[in-house]
Amino acid sequence: MGAPSRRLIAGNWKMYGLAASLPEARAVAISLGHEEAPTRVALCPPATLIARMAEALAGSALLIGGQDCHAEPSGAFTGDVSAEMLADAGAQLVILGHSERRAYHGETDDMVAAKVRGALRAGLEPIICVGESLADRRGGWTLEVVDRQLRGSAPVQLRGQAFTVAYEPVWAIGTGLTPTLPEIEEVHAAIRTVLTRSLGDAGEAAAILYGGSVKPSNAAEILALPEVGGALVGGASLTAEDFLAIVRAAAPG
Ligand code: PEP
Repeated sequence: MGAPSRRLIAGNWKMYGLAASLPEARAVAISLGHEEAPTRVALCPPATLIARMAEALAGSALLIGGQDCHAEPSGAFTGDVSAEMLADAGAQLVILGHSERRAYHGETDDMVAAKVRGALRAGLEPIICVGESLADRRGGWTLEVVDRQLRGSAPVQLRGQAFTVAYEPVWAIGTGLTPTLPEIEEVHAAIRTVLTRSLGDAGEAAAILYGGSVKPSNAAEILALPEVGGALVGGASLTAEDFLAIVRAAAPG
């Protein structure tokens, strides 16, 4: 049996943040200190801020992630950023297959799987996002959709590697809506079954994050659910105050 991963609370700044936002990251880092804690904490700023954030946070326990990467290490791909470039700038993780990338950039499961291989090649830990639309949820297809996305986006190369999956219902992202606790529990249990079957020990050990309107007021009850190994946080990660309240909810006491 694979050793279970430590919990992860990851903040996705999306396309928000200029140099003036770095003090928020610094405040999170200062609060975390330098010690290895039971919960890992990461911020994923826009690519333009990764190097400066890495410099500002040098020596702290706060991890840094990208929000996407190209599948190739380099090439004639104007405007793209490779996993190697993210790692070179100071990132340790990368979010892949976020629903906003799937919706606005036409990313398919195959493309996400290629990016996952790129992340592994560069030594980055992928955070692979899956989640159903509102129509899927209403139609009763949530588990089928998540199963299909996982099979397509989580390639066999993940065997033996550290990685994370984020369950993010599309209709819960940025809307203030969340599934019920039993609904979250059901999907996370299904994700664990698929991961373990397809990826063995690595799938059994991977943390499964919940994402979609996580905030200080609902974090504790969501993070207490079985198979919820942390959270991917959008809006509430933009201020140190809200983000740290969620981090504290992951490690009460
Ligand atoms: C996200 O961007 O992945 C997300 C979960 O956003 P929010 O927390 O704002 O719903």
